[in-house]
Amino acid sequence: MKCICCNCTESRVVDSRPSDDGLTIRRRRECLSCGKRFTTYEKIEMMPVLVIKKDQRRENFDPEKVRGSMLRACSKRAVSAQQIDEAVRNIEQAVYSSMEREVESRRIGDLVMAELRRLDEVSYIRFASVYRQFTDVSSFMQELTRLLEENKHGEGNAESVR
Ligand SMILES: [Zn+2]
Repeated sequence: MKCICCNCTESRVVDSRPSDDGLTIRRRRECLSCGKRFTTYEKIEMMPVLVIKKDQRRENFDPEKVRGSMLRACSKRAVSAQQIDEAVRNIEQAVYSSMEREVESRRIGDLVMAELRRLDEVSYIRFASVYRQFTDVSSFMQELTRLLEENKHGEGNAESVR
């Protein structure tokens, strides 16, 4: 980073603090040559990620869409807006950290299911029934039975029963 006064490229960081939303870091730097101080901001670069839909069409990955379908699934359930925010952030992180430029919509659906399953079983079943389009009652029952079995073995999330 070139000094704005003398073009020297060497500076030292004198102060460094995250912004309120935690998404950027503000650094106060001091030029090693002339002592001039200046500020830089560091931010994670988000590469745009494309979602491949079932019909092979592509669209930009949109966390707001994820939030929308989670809100629908959690409607009137004991799931707070904060929990949904957190879940959306987890999904965003998983999508961006995979370093893939394209991700199948199924993968995002699976991530949503994993989050919902942790948060609230009813919301999970609601989402899964739409998303997986259970073709018949027996596949739906299979999923329910699997959930019940898991709970019996104590693997279920006790918090979701509150
Ligand atoms: Zn300088």
